[in-house]
Amino acid sequence: MEPTAPLPPLRDVIARHGLSASKALGQNFLFDGQLLARIAAIPGDLNDAEVLEVGPGPGGLTRALLAAGARVTAIERDARCIPALEELSAAFPGRLRLIEGDALAVDAPTLFTGRPHIVANLPYNVGTALLVGWLSGAWQPWWQSLTLMFQKEVAERIVAAPGSSAYGRLAVLAQWRSTARIAMPVHRSAFTPPPKVMSAVVAIAPTAAPEGVEVATLERLTAAAFGQRRKMLRQSLKAMPGALAALDTVGIDATRRAETLTVADFVAAARAIRA
Ligand code: SAM
Repeated sequence: MEPTAPLPPLRDVIARHGLSASKALGQNFLFDGQLLARIAAIPGDLNDAEVLEVGPGPGGLTRALLAAGARVTAIERDARCIPALEELSAAFPGRLRLIEGDALAVDAPTLFTGRPHIVANLPYNVGTALLVGWLSGAWQPWWQSLTLMFQKEVAERIVAAPGSSAYGRLAVLAQWRSTARIAMPVHRSAFTPPPKVMSAVVAIAPTAAPEGVEVATLERLTAAAFGQRRKMLRQSLKAMPGALAALDTVGIDATRRAETLTVADFVAAARAIRA
């Protein structure tokens, strides 16, 4: 979709609205239109699709989402960004809804009737807290897909396979009823100002949830197992009622360590705990 008038360069928008990057708000902005268009393409065809963007900042990614035809709802905490985003809203009439607030406090599902795609480039602590919330809710989730920028190390923890040092609670939570992949590495120099570390965009799509497994049980199990990841499961799960019996039921050797169990192993053990 085209704007009603040509958009000014993002750097001009930032200068005009005095949007110096705030370290406290984790602001590292993206300006490269081609890179932003590639990120906006990750969820698939967005023509007339609902998108929730968290942390639009001066609106670079927002522009790319609107250009891809999305109807965007954007939650931004920094009041300084709102006038700049209002200009963008005026250039795409009826396509951009702005919400000023902390995404951790906004009840986002109530903003939508359908299932939005979620797209965000956030400070990693906010992004991780939101991700855990989005992955822990009822299934199928209220969202259709997640396209999220993280620092590379966090992205690797989300998509990690068993046996790697990155594999842990976050990998199991992200993979037991979703697919998670690194869709695009992003060099630190793509950001203004550049952060200290490399980044990557993670793409997550929900799948069918395995039957008979409570997310709360799975979370308790992985918290206990990975809480003492160097220990054998018979030690790390000792204090969790029913856990060792469940391992026995599903044929998992309690002398193994947490990081050797597949996601399916954790799911099977969590199901047996509940049974
Ligand atoms: N999306 C823009 C881009 O890609 O250039 C800005 C990305 S910048 C890394 C992160 C943005 O998230 C900032 O605009 C910041 O103000 C905003 N932000 C930080 N914490 C937030 C929160 N809790 N809720 C909503 N927005 C937040």
